[in-house]
Parts: sequence; structure tokens; C-alpha cells
Amino acid sequence: MTNELPALFDSHTHLDQYDPVELPGIFLRAREAGVAGVVTAGVTVISSDRCVALARGNSGFVWAGVGVHPMEPGIDLTDADVERLRELATEPEVVCISEVGLDHQSGMPDRTVQDRGFRLQLQIAVDTNLPVIFHNRDAGMEPLRILDEELQGRTKIVAHYFQGPVDYAEACLDRGIYLSLAKPLLRLPELQDLVRGLVPLDRIVLETDAFPQPFKRNRSNWTEPWQVTQVAEKVAELKSVSVEQVAAITSANLARILGRSIGATGPA
Ligand SMILES: [Zn+2]
Repeated sequence: MTNELPALFDSHTHLDQYDPVELPGIFLRAREAGVAGVVTAGVTVISSDRCVALARGNSGFVWAGVGVHPMEPGIDLTDADVERLRELATEPEVVCISEVGLDHQSGMPDRTVQDRGFRLQLQIAVDTNLPVIFHNRDAGMEPLRILDEELQGRTKIVAHYFQGPVDYAEACLDRGIYLSLAKPLLRLPELQDLVRGLVPLDRIVLETDAFPQPFKRNRSNWTEPWQVTQVAEKVAELKSVSVEQVAAITSANLARILGRSIGATGPA
């Protein structure tokens, strides 16, 4: 198979959660589709450690985010957790603080605990000068309020798995926040309208949020980084531009966010 697309980049995955024997196939399918690199984000301290190791072992194709996800019990961070995350954040393979944020679905950790964990990790972002790729589920504008308070514009920010609505999009764009689009763009008409209209191409990055999905019985239906090409094709259609332009612009956006150049082999 030949590369028909210029370099695309999957800015958010959880590749450390796959059985390691799966990874060569996942990387091959991604490369064949024109994906030049992926960021794999931790969801616990241990997973963050694994992401850094994965990036180190696949240098030039995988980069790491470190962070504790708000839905993890471990979001009740200990001093040792914060110290370890801070150490990991200084590793050369680490390009962002992620996955961090707020999740207000029922059954999630206590909101004051999530707030504290989010703020502590945002301080690591400030101290290490790393961008933040954040999660927001059912928490409305609250993550933006905390990002405003803790970051005060000092680091770049990406709204991961962005799905709207309009007022949230406006609030993000007003703050200079980038919007990360994933496969929901393929099926949500309101999100498609937003991307067609309000959201400028120079504020979009692409992702799959790929993680193992054993609840899908057919393995070929699991989301993988190669499918970032589908998101790129949908953005191209909505913006009436070529997929090549979408790839070039979103890759440049990601390079700007990460503060590193992205060539054929990803961030340098
Ligand atoms: Zn994620």
C-alpha cells in the first residue's frame, strides 16, 4: 500500500492499554494509512509510566502524555503521585499533560477530588511548560474556569474529543483553545455544522482516542489510529478543502501546540 496522504497525526490515544503483541500491527496499519505519529496519553501514574516507555521504544512515531484521568480512583493524588508525574513530565518523550480534566457523569470520583487533581496537574504543566490536552464530560464550562485560573494563558490547551455545543465551542475559541476532533464528527450533524462554520481550520487537531474495545466483538471494528484518516476526510468535506490541506494544517497546528516541528517522522 502506498501513502496517499501527507503526514497525519493522531494527537490522542491510549496505546499503552493494548496487549503489546497488538502494537506492531496497529503501527503498521497507521503508517500505511499515512499517519506519521501518535500521542499516547496516560490515565494513571502507572499508565503514564507505560506511555513514556512506549514512546521511548518507538521513538520517532510515538510520543507520550502523562496524567491521571478524572474517572480514575487514583485522581485522589498523593504527594508521591504528583512527584512521579512531575518527573515523568520532564522526559524528552513527553509532549503534553494528558489525560487530565473533569468528568461529571454519575459514579465518577468526588468532584472536589477531581478539581484538586486537575489543578495539581495543571501546575505541573505550568512548571514544565507543556501543553494540556483535557477531558470534559458533562462538566459544562467548569474545566475552562479551572484552566483560566491555573494556567492564566501560560500554556497551550486542547479540548480533547470535542463534540460541542456551540456556546462551549465559542468559549474555547475565545480562549485560544484548540479543538480536537475524533470519530463523533462522522455521525453528529450538529458537530458537523459547527466544524463547517464556526471552527477555523487553524484551530483543529485530529485524534482517535484509540483504546482496546473488547465490547466490540469484531476486532476489526476497534478504533485504531489509522482511522484518523476518516476524521481528516470528513473535515476536508465539511471545509471544502483537500485532505492534503487538512493534513498539512492540522499537523502544523499540532506542531505549534507541542512546540516542536513535525516532519515525516513526527515531532523532533
Ligand atoms: Zn482519552
